[in-house]
Amino acid sequence: MSEFVSDDELLARADAVASRAYAPYSNFHVGCAVLARDGRVVEGVNVENAAYPLGVCAERTAFSRAIAEGHRPGDFVAAASTAPPCGGCRQWLLEMGVERVIFRNGGRVVTMSPDELLPESFDASSLA
Ligand code: ZN
Repeated sequence: MSEFVSDDELLARADAVASRAYAPYSNFHVGCAVLARDGRVVEGVNVENAAYPLGVCAERTAFSRAIAEGHRPGDFVAAASTAPPCGGCRQWLLEMGVERVIFRNGGRVVTMSPDELLPESFDASSLA
């Protein structure tokens, strides 16, 4: 397994990129940094919209960017976020096959697997 970036460094990248969030409505800036197996780090921020439900979370912008850059689900070692991932992003983290998720929750730093974040999850292959 190739890991060139520590969890602490990945979370620091998420902290740094959060300042680039577009969050004029909530003023809640979130950053996410995703580590791929090849050592590349892809960052994302939340992007809000005047039509509130159209806003996108930092986790989803990071993974969307990573996919657009050529990564595929299963390529990801870790994702670090400046806030606990929402329910929808937990489904994304599971789909992307990331091994572990590091996030800030109040004054704590929490590390969990996607299965721990979303137990008994939806899986289209298990609907039979
Ligand atoms: Zn989310």
